Amino acid sequence: MTTGTVYLVGAGPGAPGLLTLRGAEVLASADVVVHDRLTGPDLLSLAKEGAELFDVGKDPDDRGDQDAINKLLVTNAQKGLQVVRLKGGDPFVFGRGGEEALALLAAGVPFEVVPGVTSAIAAPAYAGVPVTHRGLVTSFTVVAGHSRSVDADAGDGGTNWEALAAAGGTIVVLMGAAHRAKIADRLMRGGLPPTTPVLAVERGTWPEQSQVRTTLAGMAEAEMAAPVTIVIGEVAALGLVPARDLPLSGRTVVLTRAVHQAASLSGRLRQLGARVLEVPVIEIVPPADGGDALAAAAGRLGQGAYDWVVLTSANAVGKLFDLVPDTRALRSTSVAAVGPATAESLLRYRVVADLVPAQATAEGLLAELPQPGPAGGPPRALLPQAAGAREELQRGMERLGWAVDAVEAYRTVPRPVSAALLRGAASADAICFASPSAVDSYLDQAEAAGAKPRGLAVCIGPVTAAAARRRGLRAGGQASEHTADGLVSTVLALLGPG
Ligand code: SAH
Repeated sequence: MTTGTVYLVGAGPGAPGLLTLRGAEVLASADVVVHDRLTGPDLLSLAKEGAELFDVGKDPDDRGDQDAINKLLVTNAQKGLQVVRLKGGDPFVFGRGGEEALALLAAGVPFEVVPGVTSAIAAPAYAGVPVTHRGLVTSFTVVAGHSRSVDADAGDGGTNWEALAAAGGTIVVLMGAAHRAKIADRLMRGGLPPTTPVLAVERGTWPEQSQVRTTLAGMAEAEMAAPVTIVIGEVAALGLVPARDLPLSGRTVVLTRAVHQAASLSGRLRQLGARVLEVPVIEIVPPADGGDALAAAAGRLGQGAYDWVVLTSANAVGKLFDLVPDTRALRSTSVAAVGPATAESLLRYRVVADLVPAQATAEGLLAELPQPGPAGGPPRALLPQAAGAREELQRGMERLGWAVDAVEAYRTVPRPVSAALLRGAASADAICFASPSAVDSYLDQAEAAGAKPRGLAVCIGPVTAAAARRRGLRAGGQASEHTADGLVSTVLALLGPG
């Protein structure tokens, strides 16, 4: 058996956008992901379905379990699996990545290093502080502030803080919260003035980033908690970002749709300042017959066998029109879309809906579809839909005198997600659902993981909202418009300022 590869991947400082493209690529294909406790659930959701996640949650100060981690990497790779070792920031900056690389070399396991954005530079940058600045400093030092660095004498493996003070340049301290008093003291003894500016950035690049500005003299008294990056030097007085208060800053929103559907929605929510967790609990798969009935219906559509084609979801549009090579084949067939989102997906196939009812429901469609007249046979309609779809529309049309060809176009099935992701999502402020099946799949899994969501449920449409209420979720509201836009404005109204 060929040995798998281990990827030592820098996860960046926390904001999901700061993972590298290469990092996202290997994460998406890994069989095993070994991550630290600080790794955000938003990054873990990039792992492929069924990937095994190991939380080896150690704090970087503790030597304890490094051997066990090395062994975990080696044994999984030797089973032929692709392994991602996901580490905060850059794997080679106080990340023990070097030790893991040595262990892999010794075991003969192939590995690749995927560098990351280090918090030493990114956390100050997000607070408006560049670590170098023309005219102010020409160098920066990144130094560990943990006990081995601070307590040991300079000759004994510890850091020579007095020499650092004398060298000038910006000093960036990682892991320094606990020993900040001693660090400040030694730097002042080394000759740095007590008035030297200091910036401490807690949880830099995370939605809940906060920062404190002080001086070396005030550093001991300043409140700060790990993970914090401390910047000491003239640059720490700069503030190069405009204060930005976005309407959803500090809020977390969970999206539960299939991965490919959530992307644009999550981009918009992130632009408004929200932290977005994608927890895709359902997945779209081919119908039980493998799509034969739908392919046959698409063929009949091409021969002009239907007067109308009625579409009740973007998925139905995609599944049907992927089988229609030339939309001119629709000729005199009219097209109805249940709502604006479905109509929008038709536009991707250059098809403009003839009918979009004012009320985006089966009832709305029934009210606005043309009433069959007495002449000729009953009008024929193609209705491609999800397996197990509600029958209201089909029955209603038949009552009105339509001949309805209801064809199964796809199935929605539950998709397993990791318990870690569900636990990370349990405390989110809001959780969005686009279908009752998503509500059920989410709650089944969350309850099993002991991670029932505490946030408000935001639902597309009344049927989904009823399912959420039935499962005991706190009702947050129902998107007035049944589209991504509608969801975004509902979330804004619920969680935005005033
Ligand atoms: N390899 C990591 C550093 C690991 S040491 C990197 O390159 O960023 C862990 C220390 O990094 C923490 O104690 C803290 O000092 C710093 N750190 C990590 N993430 C941080 C963040 N989001 N904001 C501020 N500091 C952070």
